[in-house]
Amino acid sequence: MDKDILVVGGGIGGLTAALALGQRGYRVRVLEATPEFGAIGYGIQLGPNVFHMFERLGLSEAVLRVSIIPRALVMLDALDGHEVAVVPTGKSFEARFKHPYIVLHRIDLHHVLLDACKALGAIELVPSTAAVGFEDLGERVRVRSKHGRTFEAAAVIGADGLGSAMRTQMLAEGAPNFIGYVAHRTIVPMEHVPAGVRRDDVVLWGGPGFHIVHYPLRRNTLFNIVAVFRTTTYAEKGDLAGHRAEVEKTYCDSQSAMKALLAMMDLERRWAISDREPIRHWHRGRVVLLGDAAHPTIQSLAQGACMAIEDAVCLAEMIQAAEGDFTTAFRRYTSARLLRTARVQLESRALWPFYHAEGIARDVRNATTALWDEDHMFRCLAWLYDGFALPTEGEESRPRVQAGSRH
Ligand SMILES: Cc1cc2nc3c(=O)[nH]c(=O)nc-3n(C[C@H](O)[C@H](O)[C@H](O)COP(=O)(O)OP(=O)(O)OC[C@H]3O[C@@H](n4cnc5c(N)ncnc54)[C@H](O)[C@@H]3O)c2cc1C
Repeated sequence: MDKDILVVGGGIGGLTAALALGQRGYRVRVLEATPEFGAIGYGIQLGPNVFHMFERLGLSEAVLRVSIIPRALVMLDALDGHEVAVVPTGKSFEARFKHPYIVLHRIDLHHVLLDACKALGAIELVPSTAAVGFEDLGERVRVRSKHGRTFEAAAVIGADGLGSAMRTQMLAEGAPNFIGYVAHRTIVPMEHVPAGVRRDDVVLWGGPGFHIVHYPLRRNTLFNIVAVFRTTTYAEKGDLAGHRAEVEKTYCDSQSAMKALLAMMDLERRWAISDREPIRHWHRGRVVLLGDAAHPTIQSLAQGACMAIEDAVCLAEMIQAAEGDFTTAFRRYTSARLLRTARVQLESRALWPFYHAEGIARDVRNATTALWDEDHMFRCLAWLYDGFALPTEGEESRPRVQAGSRH
């Protein structure tokens, strides 16, 4: 009876949790609100820390097959085009962090996870099923769907993202914190990318109140572009001409390469950039949260999905170790994950004005980063990229944080 688990949300975190539990002998059902698992298809960056988890799941090779290892992570000044900071991601990076930094199509990552889930035979994937609430039955939990279906399990994992229905019921709090920025995302064929744009790097152009990130995908045949900027006219779907006019005005002082990229972008859909304050409690009774449902972050460090994957493996391991004592499993999991994920949330917020600095703040940033070398960059990132050590059997469950300096 304790071996069946319900996962709400079939995103990266939910599927990883399903796979990790399935590999440990649990029967898992995954409820996904959308008709198709993994339908949102843009690029994603994954740091070397995530490979510690892929290795445990036996996925490293499959993920690497659909990934690109960029030459470097480069920040460029959007106003004058000069290099603000560079993190080389070649041989020295792999030697230092033991694993590569990768970029890949989200759909490809989803397929790696889905294929592995299907191969196990212990995981049932249930699309078009939005969970709306849960009921604690003591020894079981019952989840209701929007269309009136009910599902029971020994425990429920809320992996339903930023707008989590499981979290809303558990914590009765308000909407996420919208930081006043939106993102537009586009993938274009590589041959359409204008000359003068770096194609082998992950590039972030930082400007006052705006940035653009771009990188290659799928054996360099595709190019992923994300434009993020401050707006007072947020609307998820607005009129296209209005969005275009706003983007042209916002980026008017940016480099010509950026303007050429913006001209290729699909500006119809925009995503609000939001996060929440870190919190200490991610579980109640037999229901527990992971990924964006537990600790949503803005994307400055490109680590939200990485944290969801680390959560998922840690949670599965704690559930298995506790042999049916879910309270202990969830307490140990939260304790192990809390400070690392909170640090990602807080450092991501701290980095936002660094990316978008203007005036004297921009001059200070550029003068400071001019002194940073590879060694310094690696030391700054070590707390994150060195990875997360899963708590060992019998280890005292107390919050842990890795050492490491800040920017
Ligand atoms: C512009 C942008 C760029 C980013 N870039 C990166 C990056 O490069 N690297 C990185 O690591 N992270 C990145 N992130 C963050 C990353 O996308 C998220 O942190 C990650 O997707 C969280 O995974 P998750 O599984 O917790 O939630 P989600 O990916 O949000 O998945 C939640 C799933 O639950 C489903 N769902 C929602 N509600 C319900 C319900 N009630 N019932 C059933 N199903 C439900 C959703 O349809 C979805 O499939 C970026 C985010 C943004 C906005």
